[in-house]
Amino acid sequence: MSISLKNIIPVLNAQWIGNSSPAEVETVSIDSRSLQNTSHSLFFALVGPNNDAHIFIADLIEIGVQNFVVTYIPEECKGKANFIVVENTLDALQQFAAYYRSLFEFPVIGLTGSNGKTIVKEWLNFLLSPDFNVIRSPKSYNSQVGVPLSVLAINEKHNLGIFEAGISTVSEMEKLEAVIKPTIGILTNIGSSHDEGFNSLEQKIKEKQLLFKYSEVVIYQKNNLVDKCMLPKTKTFSWSFDKETADVFVFKKETLNQSTTLHYKFKGNTYELNIPFEDKASIENAISCLMLMLYFNYDSVTIQSRMLLLFPVEMRLKVKTGINNCSLIDDSYSSDFQSLKIALDFLESQKQFQNKTVILSDIFQSGLSNDELYSKVSQLIVSNNISRVIGIGETISKFNDKFANCITFKSTAEFVSNFEKLDFANETILIKGARSFEFEEIVYLLEEKTHETVLEINLNAISYNLNFFKSKLKPNVKIMVMVKAFGYGNGGLEIAKLLEHHKVDYLGVAFADEGISLRNGGIHLPIMVLNPENTSFSAIIQHQLEPEIYCLKGLHAFLKIAKHKNLKRFPIHIKLDTGMHRLGFEEDSVNELIATLKGNETVEIRSILSHLATSDDLKHRDFTISQIRLFDKLSSNIVAELGINPIRHILNTSGISNYPDAQYNMVRLGIGLYGVSNDTAEQKYLENVGTLKSVISQIRSISAGESVGYGRKFMAEKTTRVATIPIGYADGISRAWGNGVGFISIKDKKAKIIGSICMDMLMVDVTEIDCTEGDRVIIFGESPTVSYIAKKLNTIPYEILTSIAQRVKRVFYR
Ligand SMILES: *Cc1c(COP(=O)(O)O)cnc(C)c1O
Repeated sequence: MSISLKNIIPVLNAQWIGNSSPAEVETVSIDSRSLQNTSHSLFFALVGPNNDAHIFIADLIEIGVQNFVVTYIPEECKGKANFIVVENTLDALQQFAAYYRSLFEFPVIGLTGSNGKTIVKEWLNFLLSPDFNVIRSPKSYNSQVGVPLSVLAINEKHNLGIFEAGISTVSEMEKLEAVIKPTIGILTNIGSSHDEGFNSLEQKIKEKQLLFKYSEVVIYQKNNLVDKCMLPKTKTFSWSFDKETADVFVFKKETLNQSTTLHYKFKGNTYELNIPFEDKASIENAISCLMLMLYFNYDSVTIQSRMLLLFPVEMRLKVKTGINNCSLIDDSYSSDFQSLKIALDFLESQKQFQNKTVILSDIFQSGLSNDELYSKVSQLIVSNNISRVIGIGETISKFNDKFANCITFKSTAEFVSNFEKLDFANETILIKGARSFEFEEIVYLLEEKTHETVLEINLNAISYNLNFFKSKLKPNVKIMVMVKAFGYGNGGLEIAKLLEHHKVDYLGVAFADEGISLRNGGIHLPIMVLNPENTSFSAIIQHQLEPEIYCLKGLHAFLKIAKHKNLKRFPIHIKLDTGMHRLGFEEDSVNELIATLKGNETVEIRSILSHLATSDDLKHRDFTISQIRLFDKLSSNIVAELGINPIRHILNTSGISNYPDAQYNMVRLGIGLYGVSNDTAEQKYLENVGTLKSVISQIRSISAGESVGYGRKFMAEKTTRVATIPIGYADGISRAWGNGVGFISIKDKKAKIIGSICMDMLMVDVTEIDCTEGDRVIIFGESPTVSYIAKKLNTIPYEILTSIAQRVKRVFYR
């Protein structure tokens, strides 16, 4: 892309406030953290309900970014860069993309629907790429922001576009339509109910149809309601399992050995098509692809030969634990220029080591000549500070000399036979390859081998929950996030990295060693240590951690070490006991605290805090108010006597929700970040973060009278199908959850836990569930939720989360 800013100012109806006259830009960015931001980037400072990218502009100017689309110019940035001032930066991004789209004329397929968009898009890309230079949305970039970014990646060499559009409420589709301008529409699936953002299913369908307003044709599964909602002049190309009037009538389906044969009628002839899937969703998605190929006049032999090769689509970037202390980012299913850019950004945000390695296959369909393409890839590699590149494939091998520190192999097999020599250790490795290279094999070699139970952590959900609580804060109230106990069991460093990106103000840990491992992992945020033992004071100082001081004895001990080390104004936090009676200065020791610190230059009170005992329980509202009053009184006294201006804070998650008037200068968010609220009404607004998954090891049928497990605690009354799952109390699943009390989810159905839970395994009843060995199961997540389990077991979600053993592998994704 190369766009003159002069041309876009009138398009955006904007005002130019610049140091220099408008120049050319080559890329568009909305991610302040991306190392791909350069002097040739145009940065759109997007503003969300709870976040505002204008705060990153000063940092971006520092690293050389010159051009910004903003709603206002931050005071400290005035005169330091070029600003395109608009009313709304998201609208501007969309208008810019719509303008850019209008510069190209080739067929563009627009996909929408409740499910299947990304799969159909990936499959169509695969099916059509032998004949077209395809540009498509990377991953599931289908939102108000993702769609414009996808479209802005078009270049002169592309001759077919495939873009998906996802909406959650009315009036969104019109905007996406203007950006995509599809010439061909595909409605993948509309689901049977309406989502929260719509009044009715009909309204939802009508809204989705707006994507096809100017399309020459719409492909869809015939359905009375959709027909009713179709815009009057729309030309359609429809299919159906039961309506003979459809253009393509699929009259028979035969399923055998995980594949399906479809028999269909089209233009008076009958055809057969074999696809390598048997589930309903995949069959429907494959038919959407068939329809498009028929519309493009492909013959049935070509269609069959390509469709036989369809594959399951992996949509997520996964972070995995590797061998020799490596961490892996697994993106082994696609290789195109756009998704490489996204993966490199993700690598930067998740890197746990200075050394970053990229294992990359040949890249297909860039729309560029190979020489241009690998030059661009090389620039990306340089700007992302990649330490070594391992190229795999005939083509990338030829361009070896474009990269510094690069080894290439002609094939995955050649890489595998040289694996030992490559000495992978202490590095973060991005594995990115086109499907045909079968990089799964490389992931397998590099991945630490553990058992099949994993706790999957959704990083997007964490960001979402953080923003939810931030939106409850008054202006200028800071936020400390508690990442103690390994991020409430969810993973310490990965979550801390994400929080650092979101610029939270503080992290809180329970013990010094937790803070030290965050520092060793490269976290720079201030970190408060809630329970610093006297023996850890030296380490605290050495790692720039900040101790919470809660008694005179601790204060004197810390002062002694700090004086000895000649420290000046070392930050400490003073904890007051206002009724929790756990840690903290009591009211009668405050005077001596003040006397000790008067005129002291060795330490500085960075904050004063206290902790609420029952912020979640409104029955004890009076008690909580009395805690807040006492905190106010004691902290005000310290502030006045010492003439200082520290941060004051008392609210935890439930406090943020229930006592908004006590935010002072900071709040301490804990459990809420991890998607759990103590309040059922609030729970609805949070996103689930952790999903504990395992697999079925074995299935057997037992007859009436037979028993299951230790102590024969389950006796079958009738023939029962029993599945064994490799997770037990040593993984943190309470034995109280066994013997018919609890359940797990298999294929969205409840499977009751029968018999006693063993150390490493448990058994469930799957008599009514159509499942096989190797199928994935969910121990907790969307269902059952952690809160539900806690309630049934008479405990609190905190205990369930933090009980999950360290031997359970954590996998992070977005
Ligand atoms: C754990 C903790 C918090 C966070 O509590 P949540 O209920 O998880 O939000 C806040 N402050 C202190 C002192 C804590 O120990």
